[in-house]
Amino acid sequence: THFGFETVTEGEKRERVAGVFTSVAESYDRMNDLMSFGWHRVWKDHFVASLNPGFSPLTAGPDPRGSQHILDIAGGTGDIAFRMLHTAHVLNNNPSVRVTMSDINRAMLTVGKQRASALPASQQAALSFVEANAEDLTRTRPLQPLSDAEKATTKHAFFDPATATSSIPSNSVDLYTVAFGIRNFSNIPAALREARRVLKPGGVFACLEFSKADKHPLFNALYKEWSFRAIPLIGQLVAADRDSYQYLVESIERFPSQEEFRDMIVDAGFVVAGDGYEDLTGGVAAIHKGMKP
Ligand code: SAM
Repeated sequence: THFGFETVTEGEKRERVAGVFTSVAESYDRMNDLMSFGWHRVWKDHFVASLNPGFSPLTAGPDPRGSQHILDIAGGTGDIAFRMLHTAHVLNNNPSVRVTMSDINRAMLTVGKQRASALPASQQAALSFVEANAEDLTRTRPLQPLSDAEKATTKHAFFDPATATSSIPSNSVDLYTVAFGIRNFSNIPAALREARRVLKPGGVFACLEFSKADKHPLFNALYKEWSFRAIPLIGQLVAADRDSYQYLVESIERFPSQEEFRDMIVDAGFVVAGDGYEDLTGGVAAIHKGMKP
């Protein structure tokens, strides 16, 4: 079976997405490498380098505005958050940059927290973990440990907003990042509105996501063949979970084109520069950026 969004309610979609990522959380990092030939690392490195957290063109070094707050949405197991901290603290020598890593799926965040224990202590001190649905950041909760029942199931380790104890305040974030997450959201316009709300004026929304590689027909045909045939098969063989990987491929197919997504960002009230996006690897992935005026 596959997760046809057209036939399910928003609540059902959310539950299924949460279930998919719980079941793949443990094997997620290995699978990413296999499915993308390691390219996801190159894209993530480029994404973070292009944002250059902690750097100020004013001083050609650390940012004189002091502490900067980065909110990494759908942060999963930490690939973006850890790169942000490394770039800011080590490459730009700016330990005042703080990162909040959030996700709707507590199993993914828990794996992220375990991985973070290998970071230098100063980076760990600048990192926090928040359970949140990107579509409503007024209802969040610091990461709570998984219960035994949650560890035993692959279905119910996702955040319930009824248990919220905190929120992300309006105008509190300098940089909002979301990598390979937004195509899973039930209500993308709501998530973009929330991004705009939590960002400070002048703050930046930055998204890395799979996109359309259709500018080069031959490359696109090979890419489609790989996606629709090989990825579900690898999912079946390596993670014993064909359905989850079939879902991932279909979610990429359904996601809007570069231009359509750029227009959604503009509709949400962001200002974009130029085309508003940058293609990576012929459009297999793309980076979109917008500034809150
Ligand atoms: N950003 C990480 C990376 O690039 O490695 C993780 C990406 S992973 C493919 C997608 C993540 O989106 C999952 O951890 C999933 O739980 C999360 N997610 C899906 N729907 C969400 C929502 N509505 N709000 C917050 N996170 C969500």
